[in-house]
Amino acid sequence: MADDLFSSFANKSVGESVVSAPEGYAPGKAKYLIVVGTVISGLGKGIAMSALGRILKSQGLRVSPIKFDGYLNVDAGTLNPFRHGEVFVLDDGTECDMDLGTYERFLDQDISKMNYMTSGRLFKTIIDKERAGKYLGRDVQFIPHVTGEIKHRVRELAMKSDADVVLIEIGGTAGDIENSFVIEAMRQLRHEEGPENVAVLALTYIVKPSALGEQKSKAAQLGMRTLMGLGLMPDFIGCRSEEPVEGKIKEKLSVASNMPMSNVIDMHNESNIYDVVLGLERQGVHRLVLGKFGLKAREPDLESWRAFSKKVKATEGKITVGVSGKYTQLKDAYASIIESLNLAGVENNIHVDIRWIDASDDGAVDKEMGGIDGLIVPGGFGARGVEGKIRAVKYARENKVPFLGLCYGFQMAVIDHARNVLGMPSANSTEVDPETEFPVIDLLPEQKGANGAGGTLRLGGQDVTISEGTKAHAVYGKTNVRERFRHRYECNPDYIGRLQTRGLVFSGYAPGKRIMQILERDDHPFFMASQFHPEFTGRPMKPNPLFNAFVRACAERK
Ligand code: GLN
Repeated sequence: MADDLFSSFANKSVGESVVSAPEGYAPGKAKYLIVVGTVISGLGKGIAMSALGRILKSQGLRVSPIKFDGYLNVDAGTLNPFRHGEVFVLDDGTECDMDLGTYERFLDQDISKMNYMTSGRLFKTIIDKERAGKYLGRDVQFIPHVTGEIKHRVRELAMKSDADVVLIEIGGTAGDIENSFVIEAMRQLRHEEGPENVAVLALTYIVKPSALGEQKSKAAQLGMRTLMGLGLMPDFIGCRSEEPVEGKIKEKLSVASNMPMSNVIDMHNESNIYDVVLGLERQGVHRLVLGKFGLKAREPDLESWRAFSKKVKATEGKITVGVSGKYTQLKDAYASIIESLNLAGVENNIHVDIRWIDASDDGAVDKEMGGIDGLIVPGGFGARGVEGKIRAVKYARENKVPFLGLCYGFQMAVIDHARNVLGMPSANSTEVDPETEFPVIDLLPEQKGANGAGGTLRLGGQDVTISEGTKAHAVYGKTNVRERFRHRYECNPDYIGRLQTRGLVFSGYAPGKRIMQILERDDHPFFMASQFHPEFTGRPMKPNPLFNAFVRACAERK
């Protein structure tokens, strides 16, 4: 059926319908698994999807994920982490939702801007096309043009990534105005590709009111009804809940959603997110999905993942790492830092507890620093919290507490050194004090002419040259590494010489440029900072070397 539809319709406007696909697209070659949420947001759709992807990948299949985010921002770069969680940065410089970090970690696969779409970017493309006269006088409509653009994107991803299975996460919840046209596009996709090529996994939430003490399915049923009312019939239901899902709940949901009970999957909370992979495998979800697609693949090979999961649970003892930032009220603002610490903890066989230290509260900084085994000063923008961060760095330096500075944290370490070691009392970043007498941190030259806020920072993967014989060299074991950046300011080249006295060493820099990228102290057991964000590249079983060394130093100190 899919073939017929394509040969007659492809890329042609037939009446009101457009089957839009890139040149040369072969329907049926790639399968599509759509993950959508009902009842509440925050169900962990990204985790469920990438956990399933991990299993499929271990069966020798190629997978490629994509997320549709409903907001009208063109990318996540202009979003406040305090409202939306961290801004994750891909190697190609795309600033995106933290779910893409989850994809990369679970799939152990670098992804790119093809794997991320916001409604803002979608509409921008369409409006740009309209202004260029590409619609040939037609009125531009949600159907077929917006839905057509969405289908085009996922098919293009299927072609370019050569994926066997494209995993599509729809942000938000079924019934939101924001994602209604994406859900409609998915409905059309299934119609055009044929039901054997498109599967829908609907996540839902099973409530257990404390006054009743039992699980109730009605909210989930209503959620399913909303989804089905939009014409997107679920093939599988993933039940998120605190505890294992009771049989009668599964039964009710299967009846309410026209599916066998075997397709109602228990996805109750696991003790750690990485166990979601094993929970899905135990229930044979990959078999259900492959069965639906009529795909054959070898059995999953999750030996190393299983070993990793055992290691996660076998950690002995714990360390307490202070994280001093200004978004400490919302843990999601530091999602990759938390994960990177966990991954490095597993590698070092120790549990990492995080103590959040609000950098905008001087009292908190002084009070909370005692008793920590290590300090991280994370990235950030603007003046609020800067003095608290500098105070925290000074404490770690003076008390020989292991320290890791990330981006803004690197810049704070430079300021602490200038002010408190070299006696430049008003040293600052021109981001905070444009008039400072000692602008030790200043705009990157290339940033001086940058216009606008979106996508204009120095972004994405860049090479870092590491000087031999330094601590950084011992940490990475090589002289050239690639790490991900997101900054506008840098260590002012005019000060590099003066700063490298009395303990501070710049041990990593941009090849052929005077952009300092790693610093360390030779008068301290572990004091390192990077202009880049090492938290974006840690993966299970492959923690980022800086995090790994930091956690080891904290454990040794303890
Ligand atoms: N605000 C600093 C800069 O733009 C640091 C950015 C960050 O921490 N990501 O350079």
